[in-house]
Amino acid sequence: MKASPNLPLSNQGMTLIEVTLVVMTLLSLISATMIGTHAYKRGSNRAHCILLAARAQQAIRTFSNLHEYTPGSEVPGLKSRLVGPDKLIRKEPQCPSGGFFVFGNKSLGETSKKPEVIPQIGTVYLHCSLDYHTPSDTTGW
Ligand SMILES: [Zn+2]
Repeated sequence: MKASPNLPLSNQGMTLIEVTLVVMTLLSLISATMIGTHAYKRGSNRAHCILLAARAQQAIRTFSNLHEYTPGSEVPGLKSRLVGPDKLIRKEPQCPSGGFFVFGNKSLGETSKKPEVIPQIGTVYLHCSLDYHTPSDTTGW
């Protein structure tokens, strides 16, 4: 009695090498999709963060026009006059990537009591702590 009959080639199924190749191809496609999704999410978060900064910039220009401040004017309590439920920025912006925002002319991590000023034209008012969330061109902001 024969242990394995000689079957025609079409009935033998896939060899181990063929199954391995199929699995490897599927894994490489899945990993390419994951990398693409991560890059898309990162770009989307960056765009969202820059839009928040642009909205804050519009709010500060609106505020300075309403109260007739010129760029460079000192305004005590500027942030508290801008951000609040009944103010131009209803709630404090949150970076979607977990960065934190700094308002005005302070640099990141600075705790000194500089006077708050209306930013000059082209100077960003709301800074994100993540470097790649900085808009590349702020001319006219
Ligand atoms: Zn950000």
